[in-house]
Amino acid sequence: MKYISTRGQAPALSFAEAMLTGLARDGGLYVPETIPQMSAADIRALHGLSYEETAFRVMRPFVGDSFSDDVFHDLIASAYANFDHGARAPLVQLAPGHFLLELFHGPTLAFKDFAMQLIGQLFEHELTRRGERVCIVGATSGDTGSAAIEAFRGLDAVDVFILYPHGRVSEVQRRQMTTPDNANVHALAIDGHFDEAQARLKDMFNDFDFRDRVRLAGVNSINWARVLAQVVYYFSAAASLGAPDRKVSFTVPTGNFGDIFAGYIARRMGLPIAKLNIATNQNDILHRCLETGEYAKGSVSPSISPSMDIQVSSNFERALFDAYDRDGAAISQLMDELQETGSFKVSQGALETLRDTFGSGRASEEETSATIRRAQARMGELLCPHTAVGVKVAEDLRDPATPMVTLATAHPAKFPDAVEAASGIRPPLPIRMADLYDRPERSTQVPNDLAALETLIEERIAK
Ligand SMILES: *Cc1c(COP(=O)(O)O)cnc(C)c1O
Repeated sequence: MKYISTRGQAPALSFAEAMLTGLARDGGLYVPETIPQMSAADIRALHGLSYEETAFRVMRPFVGDSFSDDVFHDLIASAYANFDHGARAPLVQLAPGHFLLELFHGPTLAFKDFAMQLIGQLFEHELTRRGERVCIVGATSGDTGSAAIEAFRGLDAVDVFILYPHGRVSEVQRRQMTTPDNANVHALAIDGHFDEAQARLKDMFNDFDFRDRVRLAGVNSINWARVLAQVVYYFSAAASLGAPDRKVSFTVPTGNFGDIFAGYIARRMGLPIAKLNIATNQNDILHRCLETGEYAKGSVSPSISPSMDIQVSSNFERALFDAYDRDGAAISQLMDELQETGSFKVSQGALETLRDTFGSGRASEEETSATIRRAQARMGELLCPHTAVGVKVAEDLRDPATPMVTLATAHPAKFPDAVEAASGIRPPLPIRMADLYDRPERSTQVPNDLAALETLIEERIAK
């Protein structure tokens, strides 16, 4: 199994190489050269399996010979051992035909743990085998950073630096990043918003001297291994609801297009998914793009669902690559245009292809709060604001003949202020992290400046 770049100008890599590399050297994203298929019988055989066994069967064909079967089994088992629900990703019924897929039972209470806990295991195993060490730098709108720090802290083969937008993450998110006291963990508060943090991260990857000097590795949602880990729960959920003999739709609260792109891969593998609905908050570049065909950056406007306050959805490039029949030169051109003018127009053919798979909707701040309030009062569920965006859009777009699964991307206690303001109920943290507010914090404030960031990182890893 080989991985190729969406811009067509970088070498093809193995699974392990693509995982350690993150962003391709031509600025593109790695995708599998071919998509392995799961037959109806393969999907039927998932009924009743553990999450871990489902994960093994769904991911195995993508891994090639990077990991042996035994090792891969063991790494999956370790990855999900710290989750506090036996099903790992349980389904809860919200209303007739409408289900929530709870993805917040991992150590940092958001779906990012599914991918991050696994790639922590995969990185450590692969780097130890090679006798190498890497420097992981990530940009976060809140949840990726805490999940990465939790997955990599204390490991021997990595330093982890996380850039988060100063003052724009929730207190729980910030504390999850600033309270781990391992020497290999560095939380950096950047003066800027998430898109700026992500842009500086891309700049670091494009500074090849720096990239090679510090052995830079990325674990943002552009990392293929993260997308792959998220494919699994689409299979586990759909199998629970009767796949392959019944179609299911999904609604996914979306920012960087990573989680929903995993659903797209599941569909390409043969999982009978009717529609994949993109749910955005007021930062609605994806919804506008699906409606008008124009992908146009606006300015980020902070919301009560901060992990989706994004104007450039990096993983969308992967969906475009397929919609343009895998024409890397065409994608390169669109991305240059985006860089230069702040927008591009999707071709009519590509737009129709995208609309075949994806629906879209947006929820305003008022609609999000109203949904939290209503779900609590009428359905007995306390939703995090991101999940509420999903539930609102799912209700708008739902076809009653097809079961709808909305992804519950975070635990409500991760965003207690917004949840309390909407519902009157302050969700308590799970007992295992009840002392989060008492632990001392460690963080460094940094300017939105590439040279300053690179200097700081080199100084820290030299110690
Ligand atoms: C990251 C995140 C999202 C958005 O996921 P993408 O993969 O970036 O689309 C939604 N909700 C929560 C709680 C998140 O942490």
